[in-house]
Amino acid sequence: MPSLRGKAQTVLGPVEPEHLGYTLTHEHLAMDYSCSFSPPSPGQEPLSDGPIEMKNLFWIKQNPYSHKENLLLYQETDAVKEELLRFKAAGGGTIVENTTTGIGRDMNTLKKLAEETGVHIIAGAGFYVDSTHSSQTQAMTVEQLTGIIVDEILKGADGTDIKCGVVGEIGCSWPLTQSEHRVLQATAQAQSQLGCPIIIHPGRHSDAPFQLIRILQEAGADVSKTVMSHLDRTICDTKKLLEFAELGCYLEYDLFGTEFLHYQFHPDTDMPSDNDRITRIRILVDEGYEDRILMAHDVHTKHRLMKYGGHGYSHILKNIVPKMLIRGISQDKIDKILLANPKRWLTFK
Ligand SMILES: [Zn+2]
Repeated sequence: MPSLRGKAQTVLGPVEPEHLGYTLTHEHLAMDYSCSFSPPSPGQEPLSDGPIEMKNLFWIKQNPYSHKENLLLYQETDAVKEELLRFKAAGGGTIVENTTTGIGRDMNTLKKLAEETGVHIIAGAGFYVDSTHSSQTQAMTVEQLTGIIVDEILKGADGTDIKCGVVGEIGCSWPLTQSEHRVLQATAQAQSQLGCPIIIHPGRHSDAPFQLIRILQEAGADVSKTVMSHLDRTICDTKKLLEFAELGCYLEYDLFGTEFLHYQFHPDTDMPSDNDRITRIRILVDEGYEDRILMAHDVHTKHRLMKYGGHGYSHILKNIVPKMLIRGISQDKIDKILLANPKRWLTFK
């Protein structure tokens, strides 16, 4: 087996990291999020069914997880393809596709999209949150789980010969379950065997990212190759954020384009706006963490696509970057965040 050291691995095979270009490190192109359906408030049940239309779009934007069809991103491959071409035209090079086992990873579709658009697509190995683990997964030992993750990177995933190039997003709940704990340990073991990049979805509590990094470290992972996703909705306090930044992993703001009043999954959290996200990134840059920041949209429902009035995969390049410049984050720093940091993270060590 040839070593992947010094290379990044896309669904079409290993590439030189220099070729990746501007990279979104946390997106989904084909995914089934039915596992997270949240019943709407009493009296609003009829709004869950039926197609996405102008007249229910505002409600869907406020209650994205209460509309059944909205959760079926995998039905939109044609629209996704069109949007990938727009991403490429806007200067984009690579998308890390974070769909793992449990939410409908589709290796063949990812390969087809990469072939038809010329965008580099990097697929994710491993498992999503506990509520999507099969009884078989829940019964596995850390060694068995490690074997599966390593095979998904070296041999191919889901019965195909198409290979993953990162581990994750690895799903973690709050509190962390035993099965998720074993998957995290397996992630760490696969990481230390292969020198691969890993990416974690933390539970919705500001202590969760600290706990997860500790578990990974104790199990032998290289924290400098680790991304903590969804910091937008996880650590809102600046002092705590700077404490977390000291641990040395990548700090990902990956919910760009998500703005709503009421966060269905965690009503205690005020979901930040895009302007708030830029403010937090500016704080991290000012504190010297520009080599650790990553950005993405985490598109995972239909209403985020331009086809349904959403922002699409080009929002960061087209709208957020100009606003970052206005807010005093230089092009040089932006290029670190969107180009150099993803390249360094995605290169096998
Ligand atoms: Zn995700």
